[in-house]
Amino acid sequence: MKVDAKYDLIIAGGGMSGLSLAWYLAKGGYKGKVLVVDSTFAPINEKTWCFWTKDIPPFKEIIYRTWNKAFFSALDMNAFLYLKDYSYHAIRSNDFKELVLTELRNRSNFTLLEENILSVSSNSSKAVLLTKNGDTYIADHIFQSVFRPNWQKPKYPLIQHFLGFEIDTEHSVFDPATFTLMDFDPAFKEGVAFMYVLPFSHNKALLEFTVFSNSTLDKEVYEEKIQNYMDKKYGLHVSEYEVKRTEYGEIPMQDLDYQPTYENNIINLGTMGGLTKPSTGYTFLRTQEYTKQLADSIITGGNPLLPPQSKFRYRYYDLLLLHILTNSTEDSMAIFRDLFKKNRFDAVLSFLSEDSNFVQDLKIMSSVPYMPFFKAIGNNLFKLN
Ligand SMILES: Cc1cc2nc3c(=O)[nH]c(=O)nc-3n(C[C@H](O)[C@H](O)[C@H](O)COP(=O)(O)OP(=O)(O)OC[C@H]3O[C@@H](n4cnc5c(N)ncnc54)[C@H](O)[C@@H]3O)c2cc1C
Repeated sequence: MKVDAKYDLIIAGGGMSGLSLAWYLAKGGYKGKVLVVDSTFAPINEKTWCFWTKDIPPFKEIIYRTWNKAFFSALDMNAFLYLKDYSYHAIRSNDFKELVLTELRNRSNFTLLEENILSVSSNSSKAVLLTKNGDTYIADHIFQSVFRPNWQKPKYPLIQHFLGFEIDTEHSVFDPATFTLMDFDPAFKEGVAFMYVLPFSHNKALLEFTVFSNSTLDKEVYEEKIQNYMDKKYGLHVSEYEVKRTEYGEIPMQDLDYQPTYENNIINLGTMGGLTKPSTGYTFLRTQEYTKQLADSIITGGNPLLPPQSKFRYRYYDLLLLHILTNSTEDSMAIFRDLFKKNRFDAVLSFLSEDSNFVQDLKIMSSVPYMPFFKAIGNNLFKLN
């Protein structure tokens, strides 16, 4: 095997998780040689990452917007929800990329390589990355967010799929202090569907039609839903606003088995590292927490820390919710309604962050209709080990 270059570490995939790891390594003063490989480092503003924190958020210098008030609507409930302990933040992927890449380009021990990766593999002591051009790079460890580990088939292969329009309107129509967390669409029958709206100013917002189901839709269906919503909710016809950008996403919401490594010396990161919360699709903050600790473990010379697995009880709650989301749109909407009606918004976010204690979990679980959960338990008694 001809080796084109040797590194201490290779980061395969320079997206959210790969660049986060590179950032924490650089900021922590890591001195080893690092190669970061992605098919492109060009700015494509393709994602808006939202997450909630109690403390100072990661990447606080590029937080695009922060909200403490949300609108929520499901079945007979239409309400504003207020955050006291947490804040809900948005970061744009372009700002993130620019910040991290500028930092890495100023560090002589980081190399950025724009290439398509064909494979990553390893033996007992080294890991190898092969590009589609046939070049080979070798390192002690590879951290990869490109290839799916050999997960078993999930029992609930749900996808959170959405298409969003970032639009500009001539007149002031949005309340920039209030984002729409979920505005459920009871008319949609092929999955659990809702609108998600991030207002950036009085006349600029990102509106996403979001569905939890097993298969994606034709683009026109999402587009028509957004147009109808703009009409019904804000009284604006399609000719009265300009679509500046679209954002499309498919996030797995699945019961996947825990696989921290891809092979020897190859560690999975981001979505491939199982850091997407199955019942919500949120990945950003979990990845920040993990990659920061991973970088610390590397810098202090220990073995690289493996991606953490959620506690058993949270994995089980996720599994039950996946069952309900898959089997009944009505039950799902009733559960979300009661969750937000009978609990403080902060308490729900704490539960979804897996920060709650068992007593708080019981309070949350007892606030929602119990029959769907009994049925879900009946169907999933022995699913997790
Ligand atoms: C549109 C969108 C919006 C989202 N919004 C949120 C949100 O609000 N909050 C949240 O918590 N999560 C969100 N997510 C989920 C999750 O945070 C993102 O998908 C996140 O980008 C996952 O990070 P990652 O590093 O695992 O993957 P990515 O960021 O996708 O990184 C993978 C990288 O690998 C590169 N790559 C792939 N194949 C190859 C190859 N063969 N050769 C070279 N390079 C390759 C890609 O170019 C990419 O840069 C969103 C997802 C999407 C799609």
